[in-house]
Amino acid sequence: MSRMTKQKRLMHDEIASFSAFFDASELHARLASKGLSLATIYRFLNALEEEGSIHSFVCENKKIYSLHQTNHAHFHCEKCGKVKHVSIANVDFLNTLVEDDVCHFQIELTGTCAHCKRISLKR
Ligand SMILES: [Zn+2]
Ligand SMILES: [Zn+2]
Ligand SMILES: [Zn+2]
Repeated sequence: MSRMTKQKRLMHDEIASFSAFFDASELHARLASKGLSLATIYRFLNALEEEGSIHSFVCENKKIYSLHQTNHAHFHCEKCGKVKHVSIANVDFLNTLVEDDVCHFQIELTGTCAHCKRISLKR
């Protein structure tokens, strides 16, 4: 097996072991001991993204990836400034809204979080 093929197999196996989201440095941390550079990992992730086998999102100014998840949603609270992750299970309705094929998407929601809502009700 060539060095290139061997590296690709290592990266594939590692990516498959993440159940949800990961970023390039997390993947690198798991593979650094096997001699893979961060540059190699970036190249590989870009290639996978181009061929559509992984999806990318932006989380806290970081690019994150997932093999399985096809959406990433944040809820920003205007009162306390906290950001939390929201999971959206059924996204079929999106495909009926556009004539193009939706692969994956990201949503940013803003409002008052449950915690701040409780506090304001007590006043
Ligand atoms: Zn995608
Ligand atoms: Zn996020
Ligand atoms: Zn809040």
